Amino acid sequence: MPHIAIIGSGPAGYYTAEAAQKQWGDDVRVDVFDQLPVPYGLIRTGVAPDHQSIKGVSRRYEKTALTENVRFVGNVTVGKDVSVAELQQLYDAVVLATGAPNDKMLGLPGEDLANVYGSASFVGWYNGHPEFARLDPDLSGKHAVVIGMGNVALDVARILAKTETEFSGSDIVGHALQKLINSGIEKITILGRRGPHQIMMTPKELGELGNLERASPRVDRSDLPDEAEDALLEPGLRKSVTQLRSFAAIPEDMHAEKKIEIEFDFFASPVAMEGSGKVESVRVERTEVKAGRAVRTGESYSIPADVVVACIGYRTSPITGVPFDDRAGRFANDEGRILTGLYCVGWARRGPSGTIGTNRPDGFGLIEKIAEDIDAGLLGPAKRKGRSGFDELVKERGLDVVTFQDWKKIEEAEAAAAREGSPREKFIDIEAMISAAN
Ligand code: NAP
Repeated sequence: MPHIAIIGSGPAGYYTAEAAQKQWGDDVRVDVFDQLPVPYGLIRTGVAPDHQSIKGVSRRYEKTALTENVRFVGNVTVGKDVSVAELQQLYDAVVLATGAPNDKMLGLPGEDLANVYGSASFVGWYNGHPEFARLDPDLSGKHAVVIGMGNVALDVARILAKTETEFSGSDIVGHALQKLINSGIEKITILGRRGPHQIMMTPKELGELGNLERASPRVDRSDLPDEAEDALLEPGLRKSVTQLRSFAAIPEDMHAEKKIEIEFDFFASPVAMEGSGKVESVRVERTEVKAGRAVRTGESYSIPADVVVACIGYRTSPITGVPFDDRAGRFANDEGRILTGLYCVGWARRGPSGTIGTNRPDGFGLIEKIAEDIDAGLLGPAKRKGRSGFDELVKERGLDVVTFQDWKKIEEAEAAAAREGSPREKFIDIEAMISAAN
């Protein structure tokens, strides 16, 4: 019976656990580790709080989590409480499903000014991730600049723009809700270093910007390529560009009815954050897109910015002893294989791309590879101890492991503390989570 350790309880982790059950039925034991006392990774702390239908996928992970042969091992940090090498001694296969929790950096002067954030920390703040919940961004200024034209940039712009009513039914954490609805923001500039035909935003998510109570999206018609050229785009992108065209057609009097303007600034590559102590503006250089690449033209200008959120992608956290592809910001791997018995899946394997659902075929594909390696005798004849071996280690080290049943108590307490209409008020401290579990 294979013993599998999966590190990370987000979508990639739970789809891989589900795939292991499909592959071996009852004849497998899977331990799903998480450094937090709560499961689901990005579903809890990445997916936008007003996208509850996407978060609903956690019910599927719960089904897997509640089976006898899969268990949740929360509040254990691999690399600190236990090493990857130790887990490899105990489990036949160790799968890193650790995602990509760190911000890719812009590498620009002034990036360290106050009120300049990466999306990992800003999204973590409004989603109550214990590491970022106390970020306390200053939202009293009028101008916000969001860098990047992907779905995370859309999430951030939308969350900055919503009213209290629009947050009803969401699980945005209370401290962030209060700050956001009372913010002074009147203009949100979304900066793209390339043009409308190169955006990474998907149509449904982009469309949401067109239906906001107090905000209106503004696209400059002259930035849009000739409409005939849209025919060459793949269908999803074509729909997104059609959405941009509809924003460009919004009449001035309709913009005037809304307090907040969300401006798309294309062909604008950030070159520096400016300000004394705290960010005041973003210096950008105009670009032209040549053969798909942004080429700077030498023309530059400054955009007022009281707060900046860079939504330009993420990197995986390296783990000592595990080969890492520094350029790509993920583990060095060949279709999920890192070293004998050591694998990766999801964003830790392929980088931060795709939707939640992309992780399903990823997890299933990886389990096929592990099964091939087991059949080929590559994982060794050694009878590994699996979870009983890990339990010995827990006793030896006095680790305070959180089980899935403990998590259910945390979940209950969060539901009980929820605002009216909200599914939960998340605990933002690890200690509070653990005391609710106990
Ligand atoms: P993304 O889709 O890769 O978009 C990153 C954006 O940042 C791109 O517009 C990119 O421009 C820009 N960028 C990168 N480096 C830059 C730099 N140095 N200066 C200026 N701009 C830069 O990444 P993401 O938005 O973080 O999303 C990650 C993944 O999560 C995506 O697959 C996304 O679809 C998914 N996601 C999905 C949802 C949803 O479905 N609701 C919500 C959130 C996230 P270039 O194209 O020019 O490089």
